[in-house]
Amino acid sequence: MYLRTLHLRNFRNYQEQKIDFHAAKTILVGNNAQGKSNLLEAVELLATLRSHRMAKDRELIKDGEDIAQINASLERVAGTSDLTLTLRRNSRRSVAVNSEKVRRQMDFLGIFNAVEFSSLDLELVRGSPEVRRSWLDTLLIQLEPVYAHILHQYNQILRQRNAFLKRSQQSTFKDIESELAIWDAQLVTAGTRVIRRRERAIQRLAPIAAAWHATISNSQEVLHINYDPNVPIGKDQAEEVQQAFFDKIKQRSAIELHRGITLVGPHRDEVKLDINETPARQYGSQGQQRTLVLALKLAELQLIEEVINEPPLLLLDDVLAELDPSRQNQLLDAVQNRFQTLITTTHLGAFESQWLNSSQVLFVKAGE
Ligand code: ATP
Ligand code: MG
Repeated sequence: MYLRTLHLRNFRNYQEQKIDFHAAKTILVGNNAQGKSNLLEAVELLATLRSHRMAKDRELIKDGEDIAQINASLERVAGTSDLTLTLRRNSRRSVAVNSEKVRRQMDFLGIFNAVEFSSLDLELVRGSPEVRRSWLDTLLIQLEPVYAHILHQYNQILRQRNAFLKRSQQSTFKDIESELAIWDAQLVTAGTRVIRRRERAIQRLAPIAAAWHATISNSQEVLHINYDPNVPIGKDQAEEVQQAFFDKIKQRSAIELHRGITLVGPHRDEVKLDINETPARQYGSQGQQRTLVLALKLAELQLIEEVINEPPLLLLDDVLAELDPSRQNQLLDAVQNRFQTLITTTHLGAFESQWLNSSQVLFVKAGE
């Protein structure tokens, strides 16, 4: 797919900016705090409706303004689409395709695909399980947009069940058990959908990531990625996952009622990343952790391409500076002529002339 134009209005530090992309590679160069990452964030938002930086909508709107808009013209094999995301300070965001409002997010999400890779991604290895869950969820949304709906449903039920657990701490309900049973059933049904999709995504991603990792580390290291669900799953049968889910809730429900919070379910999942059988989070050197993140990102790109049958966009935010020359080249070679790539840098010296000559270079200064 090819991002032809991007139009920003009141987004972050941009007031009004239209950009035409006329090469498969675009280098955004500029000093710190000029708006390079903001531009990539805008593209990421259009593709995934999520931001890497986990920003709230009001943080995305230019200071002093009430409405921000990101608009793009996208070419795919199936045809051209015009996509618009509107963010409002005082009400909900909305999306439109070809100027027609789209009610369900999942109908918007299937159109544009992009993978963002930034220095924040080191958190994938170093950060809490929540970071890895969020990464996996973003990937899943790209692989199957209906997952956005499934995840939303689960989170809603989780919030409501938590509220019920809190309420029942303070009152002397007679029917706690029967009402809790209703919440349990909903949590298990929605949660099982999340669990099974996460399991399947990791199963597909793991061998691709391991292959990339072997390439980048010259086969010195072996990467194992494992889904470590909070609810133990044996076989991937829905009924079995549901049964295990119910069993675990039953075991923990006394503690849940005591603490007023849901302790069982995919909101407590983990994705295990091991290098040579050792958790990368605890033992990986900085270089090993970077290699691992690079392998994960390349695997993400490849998997999305396989599933949607078209290469997604690649957004590289400041990552070259963090890689040694051999890994830089591996990354640039891997993406060369294969994915439309937007890449930020503070100095063009980081690029070989071959890259520079075939790229469009945009100078970014104070939101222009
Ligand atoms: P670096 O090289 O340091 O990564 P950058 O060019 O990627 O810099 P960005 O993160 O894109 O920088 O832009 C940061 C600038 O955007 C900051 O000056 C910040 O104050 C400004 N900014 C962020 N959000 C808003 C907003 N809602 N309204 C106005 N300005 C904003
Ligand atoms: Mg930046």
